[in-house]
Amino acid sequence: MASKLVAGNWKMNGALADNAALLRALAGAGDLAVACSVCVPYPYLAQAHDCLQGSAIMTGAQDVSEYVAGAYTGEVSAAMLAEFGCLHVIVGHSERRTLFAEDDRQVGRKAAAALGGGLIPIVCVGETLAQREAGETVEVIRRQLDAVAEVLGGEALGRVVLAYEPVWAIGSGRSASTEQVGEVHGAIRAWLRERCAQADAVSILYGGSVKPANAAELFAVADVDGGLIGGAALVAEDFLAICRAA
Ligand code: PEP
Repeated sequence: MASKLVAGNWKMNGALADNAALLRALAGAGDLAVACSVCVPYPYLAQAHDCLQGSAIMTGAQDVSEYVAGAYTGEVSAAMLAEFGCLHVIVGHSERRTLFAEDDRQVGRKAAAALGGGLIPIVCVGETLAQREAGETVEVIRRQLDAVAEVLGGEALGRVVLAYEPVWAIGSGRSASTEQVGEVHGAIRAWLRERCAQADAVSILYGGSVKPANAAELFAVADVDGGLIGGAALVAEDFLAICRAA
């Protein structure tokens, strides 16, 4: 049985003073029934780690280098993230794929680098609206996952978290329906079972316009093991309400 996780993705938002108020509210939340994590911009990792230490919420990052160390200007390695107390790192977010031309195999290499550095990669996959309308959703997701599996192999695949994030639902205010989510999460679970002995232990998150108002129904769908939360993760009471719905 997969464990539940709710991860917040702050994206490129924040400022020291604003973060302090948000992190204080999160740290004061008390016990949460599921694992929860906030993936913050690199410069705020130390601040988040300090504020959240001893609380129910863990710290994560939004990207990681595929390289271990060396002459890679601007890159941040998995070992560096681990030193700042990160446990989770998002890889292959659609914004990185679209705006920074990350391809499926690079996403696989980043997931491998994260595992190599002792982190848990949250590997994002998802279709565009055009792909969904062309009936290609499951095929696109299997292709994205196949590339990751080719790099990782079956044993390592059992140690990642997957996140289904339809591109058209991210930041749009329009989440996928419970039927759409159920169909894709079922297809991802079936794909995992073809490749990995620990298939049923891999957490599959849903992300895309999750809010307090729709979290419980999305999290009740079969094979949905929590969520990856963007906009709502910037408001403490919304993020905590979503964590409590999982
Ligand atoms: C995301 O950025 O991963 C995301 C799911 O964003 P939002 O919740 O704002 O749609």
